[in-house]
Amino acid sequence: MQIPDIIIAIDGYSSTGKSSFAKLIAKESGFLYLDSGALYRGVTLFAMENGLIDSGNNIREDKLAAALKTLDIHFENIGGKTMTFMGDRCIENEIRTLGVSGKVSPIATLPVVREYVDKRIRDLGKGKRIVVDGRDIGSTVFPDAELKIFMTADRNVRAMRRMKEMQGKGENVTFDEVLRNVTDRDYIDSNRAASPLSKADDAIVLDNSDMTIEEQMVWLKELLARKFGTPGNDGSAEA
Ligand code: C5P
Repeated sequence: MQIPDIIIAIDGYSSTGKSSFAKLIAKESGFLYLDSGALYRGVTLFAMENGLIDSGNNIREDKLAAALKTLDIHFENIGGKTMTFMGDRCIENEIRTLGVSGKVSPIATLPVVREYVDKRIRDLGKGKRIVVDGRDIGSTVFPDAELKIFMTADRNVRAMRRMKEMQGKGENVTFDEVLRNVTDRDYIDSNRAASPLSKADDAIVLDNSDMTIEEQMVWLKELLARKFGTPGNDGSAEA
């Protein structure tokens, strides 16, 4: 798939399939994929393992702020897949558990954590040809992104998809637990003071409640053609 040298920002509600969509775009276009949620999840795992967040979600913010100065969370490409690392330890599976999902949104309300993630994403994404997914990418991290997509879907559909994905990885979760987590995260993400989840004015809404990933790619290709012209075989845009 030929895409001009742009930044693609994909934001939206929890479990709308942002990362699956972004990964496929990256695979088909050669763009670099950056998953901002994985960095928030990595910081959360670190906080949990170091006693910096308790069962009531009270956070030891001063200690976390100090630790962030040296915390190394990054991505590595392993066999064509983007994996999240903390130092030399692969944390890709641990950060996707319901345990981390239940604590990540309170952690992501902290301005010091948001600054850490924003800086890492901007450093990793220097130059164009990146597709980045999150909650505030089009509104805050890359407000000048040339293409902004805001994803939404029926909450029950999202919870069902996420439950199947987690069960597929062997995690023993119920529909109600996942639905509660998705609902809680949407609420905290939309109502926090620091860059809350919101649709950028120039973002285009994609409601994929009834769409397959293939249909979403068709939708994207039509959008790209409308916005940037139909790419020729050499990748140049036709008028
Ligand atoms: O995208 P994902 O569901 O993995 O993100 C995990 C959490 O990280 C979200 O629920 C949200 O609280 C936080 N997040 C955020 N801003 C982003 C990306 C994720 O606040 N840009």
